[in-house]
Amino acid sequence: MEIEGDLFGPTFHDSPIGMAVLDESGHMLDVNPAFAHLLGREPAELIGKAFSEHTHPDDLERDAEMLAQVSSGVRPQGRLRKRYLDGRGETVWARVTLSEATQGESPRRFVAQVEDITEYRRAKELLEKRALYDQLTGLPNGTLLIDRLAHALDGHLTKPTTVGVLFCDVDHFSVVNDSLGHQAGNALLVIIAQRILLAVRPGDTVARHGADEFIVILEDLSDIEAASAIAESISASVHSPVPLAGHEVLPTVSIGVALAEGKTSAEALVRDADTAMFLAKEGGRSRIEVFRPDLRKTALNRLAIESDLRAAVREGTLVVHYQPIVDLKTREVFAYEALVRWEHPARGLLLPDEFIEISEKANLVASLGAYVLHEVCDFIARHPEFDGRVFVNVSTRQIGSADLTRTVKSALGPHCIDPHRLCLEITETGMLLATEAARLDLENVAALGVELVLDDFGQGYSALSSVLQNPIAGLKLSKDYADRLGEPGGDRISSAIAMLTTGLGIFGIVEGIETESQHVKALTHGWDYGQGFLYGRPLPEDELTASGLTPPPEKEKA
Ligand code: C2E
Ligand code: MG
Ligand code: MG
Repeated sequence: MEIEGDLFGPTFHDSPIGMAVLDESGHMLDVNPAFAHLLGREPAELIGKAFSEHTHPDDLERDAEMLAQVSSGVRPQGRLRKRYLDGRGETVWARVTLSEATQGESPRRFVAQVEDITEYRRAKELLEKRALYDQLTGLPNGTLLIDRLAHALDGHLTKPTTVGVLFCDVDHFSVVNDSLGHQAGNALLVIIAQRILLAVRPGDTVARHGADEFIVILEDLSDIEAASAIAESISASVHSPVPLAGHEVLPTVSIGVALAEGKTSAEALVRDADTAMFLAKEGGRSRIEVFRPDLRKTALNRLAIESDLRAAVREGTLVVHYQPIVDLKTREVFAYEALVRWEHPARGLLLPDEFIEISEKANLVASLGAYVLHEVCDFIARHPEFDGRVFVNVSTRQIGSADLTRTVKSALGPHCIDPHRLCLEITETGMLLATEAARLDLENVAALGVELVLDDFGQGYSALSSVLQNPIAGLKLSKDYADRLGEPGGDRISSAIAMLTTGLGIFGIVEGIETESQHVKALTHGWDYGQGFLYGRPLPEDELTASGLTPPPEKEKA
């Protein structure tokens, strides 16, 4: 063995690069300390063993091939990246260069230089993973998704089956994120990702597309029913309570389904599924919709509305209509609810359902809300003959960082309006406020003397106890319950909630009263106030003033 070491002298032993001297059969005649160290072993454990000893099983074949090529003289030198398993079973990546050290002499000797590149490989893998996988959920990201989908679409043309895409958007995610904080939001996304993975078939790809959007690629699909069935199972899997930051959240997803028909691109298929998802949201969330070609027009419409709305908010061309809220006993107008409308130059009068959601997505709702508040205060100032209150709807995004308190003050200020004249309606989801900033903002608004009312009570998402942590003065029972007045179940709920309002010392309003019998029921159940078409529809200011701010019942336009 001494002779082998002499081939290279001290260089061999002191080299920081691992080195081994091999005989013609690939056995190690000598190794330097660096090589032994790389494998986490002593030199004596390696000498006499095959060079392939401790090689990762998957790399054995390539290793043998390189040895054969160099020893047969096909190539003077072999290079290869390979994996070893060290003394602890960990993978060690190495770059190996093998060359002959003797020239035509016998016995022939070969020298392997073995460089540890594990750190480099790890860094590279990490970068690759970062570029293709979502950090939070570990799912493929948008880039990898498009790549896989394009691959699936290439393959499907020759198959009898097709490829489908499910676009899943978490409902009300911004509420959780804004109110319970980013950490809670992230935790919720991780749980939803796991639930989606549990619901799909083994080979399906689930990717994270945007903040609260997940996309599922379904290959080998027979038809749309098969895709819808998987969408149903995702929807069911996601819909179960999650404890988050002291609250209980019941997540739902809206899902759009699109199927590849003929030749289509990955981007186009995702866009179609997104369009169908938007329809599912508009239909009231927690729904599944299948893409149809006529929906493309709707998507274009939405984009057009968004840019027009931006201009409308900027130029102040939105209008506010007012709907009476009456005292159930006397039917006298006790207050008005301000409801925003948009007189669109080409589309006519648009109702909030057609643009509030778009304004939220486009970050316009805070300025829209500020505009409505100023309009309402101007209205109050213009009508000294009316001394009741005006209820104004406030979107969650107006609270907290958007500084609702400042907006309210600046609306009241110019006319020195008594804050008691203003009442702000916040939905149950909007009340699920736990960030300090949001809670503080609401407390500051209440401290001004502006009362807060819980809107659409009973439609929500959160536990009553969470909602009641906020300083509320009253609640409005959602129209869904008014519709059920007269049914035994509906009556029981209505009287129970009326009792709850009395117990809590807050006032109660029933929304959406359309008939005399609903009016009588609400009154006998103990409700204070009512609102609905029976007493008057929302009217523009000029029509309202023509009737002395007390519109005759049943006249009107919505
Ligand atoms: P909401 O606050 O629950 O308002 C009540 C909605 O029910 C109004 O619809 C009203 O026209 C309708 N309504 C009232 N009585 C009846 C009835 O007897 N029968 C039926 N079928 N409907 C009745 P609208 O004006 O379309 O507003 C829809 C929603 O848009 C509002 O629901 C509110 O959440 C939101 N919204 C309205 N204005 C604003 C605003 O200025 N800012 C924000 N952020 N949201 C607004
Ligand atoms: Mg309202
Ligand atoms: Mg309501």
